[in-house]
Amino acid sequence: MSKLACNCGYVMVARTMEEDFLHDFIPQKVLGDLLVKWDETGTKFSCDDFFNYYNQFRKDAYKCPSCGRILLQSDEDSNLFDSYVKEVK
Ligand SMILES: [Zn+2]
Repeated sequence: MSKLACNCGYVMVARTMEEDFLHDFIPQKVLGDLLVKWDETGTKFSCDDFFNYYNQFRKDAYKCPSCGRILLQSDEDSNLFDSYVKEVK
């Protein structure tokens, strides 16, 4: 179980890892590379192969259900999260 508090005060608690606020942040290039590897490897390309590659590049991202902020795993320290607020025009 992981827990992350948003700056608005809402606490996101992940119990099943299927919560709607949980997202992955990954470069499109990595997904493209994965599809090419899958296509080249065919049926020998396993779920483990997928996640061994995918997990090297993914970051955890949370979208706060209360205020909509995005909390993204920090580049500097993977135990910390940077917070992003939608700009209002
Ligand atoms: Zn929030």
